Amino acid sequence: MDNAATTRISRCALRAMEEAAFNCFGNPSARHSYGREAEKVIREARRAVAELMNADPSEVYFTGGGSESDNTILRGAVLSMKKKGKHVITTAIEHHAVLHTLEDMQENGIAGITMLPVRENGIIDPEEIRKAIRPDTVLVSVMFANNETGAVQPIRPIGALCRQRGVLFHTDAVQAYSHIPIDVRDMNIDFLALAGHKMHAPKGIGAMYIRKGIQIPPLIRGGGQEHGMRAGTENVPGIAALGAAAREAAEQMESSAERQRVLRDYLIDDLTRNIPGCVLNGDRDRRLPNNVNVSFEGVTGQNLVAALDLRGIAVSAGSACTAGSVEPSHVLMGMGLSRERALGALRLTISGETTEKEVREVSAVLQEVVRQLRGKS
Ligand SMILES: *Cc1c(COP(=O)(O)O)cnc(C)c1O
Repeated sequence: MDNAATTRISRCALRAMEEAAFNCFGNPSARHSYGREAEKVIREARRAVAELMNADPSEVYFTGGGSESDNTILRGAVLSMKKKGKHVITTAIEHHAVLHTLEDMQENGIAGITMLPVRENGIIDPEEIRKAIRPDTVLVSVMFANNETGAVQPIRPIGALCRQRGVLFHTDAVQAYSHIPIDVRDMNIDFLALAGHKMHAPKGIGAMYIRKGIQIPPLIRGGGQEHGMRAGTENVPGIAALGAAAREAAEQMESSAERQRVLRDYLIDDLTRNIPGCVLNGDRDRRLPNNVNVSFEGVTGQNLVAALDLRGIAVSAGSACTAGSVEPSHVLMGMGLSRERALGALRLTISGETTEKEVREVSAVLQEVVRQLRGKS
């Protein structure tokens, strides 16, 4: 129940990875047949990754994951626009891969940021972005779907607004890509970040989409791999697996999302109806098909994670990337929720592999655990 933190590699992706690692082990830059074989694996994966978001393969660059894609895009985009300005607009609920990068850029004088709050349902009002755009604004960065609440952001109107005002638009789509439909053309997206391990491909592989015609400097320099946008010998097995996972998603996304939506809604209804003082965080409908985020009165998320772990159920309190710290989630605080409600939050995220039986059991155990924890205090 912690699939937003990471997913298990699919059998199909695993097979592609093993095949590439063992049989296509040549260096893709080499001119001999071993190299050409590996290069072909990359070319085919690039086409699959591009197709799933209606991009051209030449607009897709493989990286070491979501964080690296975000870092490359944010730094590169702002530096490429330094003649116009360095003002960046973002939201308070972004992943730390975006927030910490922009904060570092601000501290070093290469960016000035405006961080917008979101509404209580976890969704940004595009009107706030319109009002924040200045003559020196060069980039807007708004995530496609939030990793804690699953809140899906109004990407299409934001993209249209940015295009109309001549401002670059980046979206961190790590939680959305392969889970819900994305069309970079139709949505006027200039940059996008995605990661393998959130979509049943391995950890340590990701990609970025950079719209044709936009030139930004790379973050990692060295050889000319990935058209000079990401130096270093390619992670061919990881790339092969990412391509396989993208192809699988193209076939299954619609039906899998519909199945997950049913299980998600069962969980939300069962928990909020049967546990007094249990409320849903984030918009009820405009959320990822796999995300449930609920707060419990008088119980902390941290204690629930520990109690459920003892019963063999893996969940998350706040985002996994900040787990270990007792600070409330910056996402829930950014929605204007109280500190107490933020500390009482629990995130349950399912996958295409989750069964109805598992969901029923999790709900029953959670109801029991909340009663026990409340009885103790
Ligand atoms: C997981 C995640 C990232 C980071 O991706 P990595 O591949 O782990 O570096 C970035 N943004 C969001 C929204 C995420 O969920």
